[in-house]
Amino acid sequence: MSSLGDWLFLIIGIAVVGLIAVVGLVSSGRRRSLRQGSTDVLAPPRPPSADPTDVEQLDAPILIPEPEAPALERPEGTASRLVRLRERLARSQGTLGRGLLALLSRDRLDDDTWEDIEDTLITADIGVGPTQELVDKLRTRLRVGGPDAGHPRDVLREELINLVDPTMDRRLAISGADGSPGVVLVVGVNGAGKTTTVGKIARILVAEDRSVVLGAADTFRAAAVEQLATWGARVGVEVIRGPEGTDPASVAFEAVKEGVDRGVDTVLVDTAGRLQNKQGLMDELGKVKRVIEKQVPVTEVLLVLDATTGQNGLIQARVFREAVDVTGIVLTKLDGSAKGGIVVAVQRELGVPVKLVGLGEGADDLAPFDPATFVDALLD
Ligand code: GDP
Repeated sequence: MSSLGDWLFLIIGIAVVGLIAVVGLVSSGRRRSLRQGSTDVLAPPRPPSADPTDVEQLDAPILIPEPEAPALERPEGTASRLVRLRERLARSQGTLGRGLLALLSRDRLDDDTWEDIEDTLITADIGVGPTQELVDKLRTRLRVGGPDAGHPRDVLREELINLVDPTMDRRLAISGADGSPGVVLVVGVNGAGKTTTVGKIARILVAEDRSVVLGAADTFRAAAVEQLATWGARVGVEVIRGPEGTDPASVAFEAVKEGVDRGVDTVLVDTAGRLQNKQGLMDELGKVKRVIEKQVPVTEVLLVLDATTGQNGLIQARVFREAVDVTGIVLTKLDGSAKGGIVVAVQRELGVPVKLVGLGEGADDLAPFDPATFVDALLD
């Protein structure tokens, strides 16, 4: 009897110990699962479950996002950017080309028709002188039975390309001599699209695997500095900046120094666009250029002009030409203007080529300017 009692006692003891062990294992496993789901504070909060007994959902694997390093953008490649922007150019300038072609295709090119052609060209901001030149050439070549008489479209295409001048060197000087960085100074009045253009050029250079430093020397506008910092951060390009109101020349100096020390390919410097008076502008831009050139030469001075401002743009161009040696023009907002003739007018005014055109607010909406592509977009 006593031995049966001993056995019973032993069996119950083993059962109790086993039960405790099983309960212990289950609850430690559950604790582990809970810990996995809650230690990482970056894990997104789980949406509350409708079912309070939904243990499945609690223990489901959780995707933990990468720590907060901003994802770098990959700027659009050259080929697709150019195709896209060519279409946009054709859309904005098509009316001008179609208008000219319709007039030139009339059965009789009488004086009234030539006057209409002149009006169309003047309305497109080409300017009086270039308009007269073009009309004279077209009249001579399209004279019935004239030696050069050809299809009006071909003649117009050829003469428009000549007017835009395919012989000008439109390459950007983005490299310095002997391995030093190229320095591109970007000037223009506020609102023309300077900062945006600096950001867009930086993206093009990054897409071409060039190393870049940006100088935020538009220190009079805190927003401009922030704006440029954002452009830089999006593609991993360093932006040298100073507190609001810092001397723009000192920011430009530091940016170029950083570029030289790091051996980058190009330093792009945004500048302040206050058109207070010619002397003030000359003093400021002159100083910026001088302090940069204590280190390396400025290789390119780009004047940014808003294509929608017409004659006003030409007046600005004159003031800047006197303040600083402009080597190239960027015409922005050509997407918002049907007056592409400003390309011709501004080149004539400054004697320097349009090198880039802005065709939208998108980050990659900047294209190199090519006369044949431009005229074809006009006439397509
Ligand atoms: P900044 O004062 O000269 O530096 O001018 P911003 O770069 O701040 O540009 C002024 C405004 O023009 C911004 O809203 C830009 O998005 C816009 N902008 C710049 N370039 C273009 C362009 O090519 N097309 C269009 N539609 N807008 C542009």
